[in-house]
Amino acid sequence: MTPFDPTDIRLNDVVQLRKNHPCGGNRWQVTRLGADIGLICLTCEHKVLLPRGQFLKQLKTFLTRG
Ligand SMILES: [Zn+2]
Repeated sequence: MTPFDPTDIRLNDVVQLRKNHPCGGNRWQVTRLGADIGLICLTCEHKVLLPRGQFLKQLKTFLTRG
């Protein structure tokens, strides 16, 4: 696995964000790519859409690659 390349986002990547979800979860799976990045919280299955720039700011690390 190559280290962290924040511009290389793939479908089904599991990522950790800087802020935990209010449910306490900190693992998110990428469900949609585009101008907005779709994410699902793997703890509570809540779905969010983040603009790509905001997603990259929030991104802490990739846990598994899609
Ligand atoms: Zn959650």
